[in-house]
Amino acid sequence: MTDKNSKINDINNRLPKVRGVIRYNFELSRLSWLKVGGPAEIFFQPEDPDDLSFFLKNLDTNIPIFVIGACSNLIIRDGGIPGVVIKLGKNFSKIKLYKNNVSVGAACRDSYLAQTCAKEGIDFSFLRTIPGNLGGAVKMNAGCYGSYLSDYLTGLTLIKRDGSINNMKASDLKFSYRNSSIPDDSIITNVFLKKEIEDPLKIEMKMTNALEIRNLSQPIKDLSCGSTFRNPIGRSSLEDKYDNDHSLKAWKLIDDAGLRGTKLGGAMVSKIHTNFLINTGNATAKDLEDLGNFVIKKVRKNCGIDLKWEVKRVGKN
Ligand SMILES: Cc1cc2nc3c(=O)[nH]c(=O)nc-3n(C[C@H](O)[C@H](O)[C@H](O)COP(=O)(O)OP(=O)(O)OC[C@H]3O[C@@H](n4cnc5c(N)ncnc54)[C@H](O)[C@@H]3O)c2cc1C
Repeated sequence: MTDKNSKINDINNRLPKVRGVIRYNFELSRLSWLKVGGPAEIFFQPEDPDDLSFFLKNLDTNIPIFVIGACSNLIIRDGGIPGVVIKLGKNFSKIKLYKNNVSVGAACRDSYLAQTCAKEGIDFSFLRTIPGNLGGAVKMNAGCYGSYLSDYLTGLTLIKRDGSINNMKASDLKFSYRNSSIPDDSIITNVFLKKEIEDPLKIEMKMTNALEIRNLSQPIKDLSCGSTFRNPIGRSSLEDKYDNDHSLKAWKLIDDAGLRGTKLGGAMVSKIHTNFLINTGNATAKDLEDLGNFVIKKVRKNCGIDLKWEVKRVGKN
């Protein structure tokens, strides 16, 4: 037996016996929106919430866990993610319509929910152009065009690191601009959203408009994670969604610093939208992170403002 196989055997013996799928050294770049990043040491796709709960209850507490959604807001570093990476599969993506709310699995794509509900006259049109899954949308309090996920959230089911299954009300949690109080080692498995009834044709129109606006203003065909940096505090929509002064935008600060089209290895500041860092084809995660840090330095030098990452960087260099 090779060293690698005997190490895998050893880890395998220490892991709880589950019904879901476990893989070792699983390449995460194939799942990542940016198509970069190293492997997950252990990759786990639970069969259902009980399987996930059992796994966590019986997993050595020294082994770290990290949950991923569609990886549309993550730079996974080239050294990969140590411990267990958890990804919820199709058994966590069901949509159920109730009288006053919609129950949706955390692995459901935002755009699929928006399109499915539109046919029923339920308006989640703001989610049509956000690429992630519902779990990631709640964790990040995703939003656009004035709407935030937290505006619709009424409750959720969360599995904590100790394996306990918790039903929580939205009012038990805190949300701000692209942020929530959900702990990094807790996993959202199901989300409840309030229904806003609208004429299906009007919802279709809103979604078509949103897609057109994105097409015109963002490099949607390139590999990116959307906006890389948060718009600076106090002058735009950071922290307080009711702060309506949008005069200071991260893209403008980056443009003013002369960084449009700047390249580092295979990473580039998009020429279409300067707050998007793109993988031109052969970027490493390091290229992207280094370019982001270079942008922060240059913007600070140019105008004295510190840009803050909106994209999360995870794993080892
Ligand atoms: C082209 C493009 C445009 C974008 N436009 C927007 C936009 O307009 N508005 C916006 O808000 N964002 C936008 N984004 C960013 C991104 O799509 C959102 O942040 C999205 O909500 C992330 O969801 P995800 O499933 O991809 O999460 P991931 O990127 O996989 O993870 C993000 C975070 O959520 C956590 N997470 C994921 N799933 C779960 C779960 N089940 N339970 C607990 N935590 C979880 C992860 O641990 C991580 O901390 C854009 C991205 C791209 C590529």
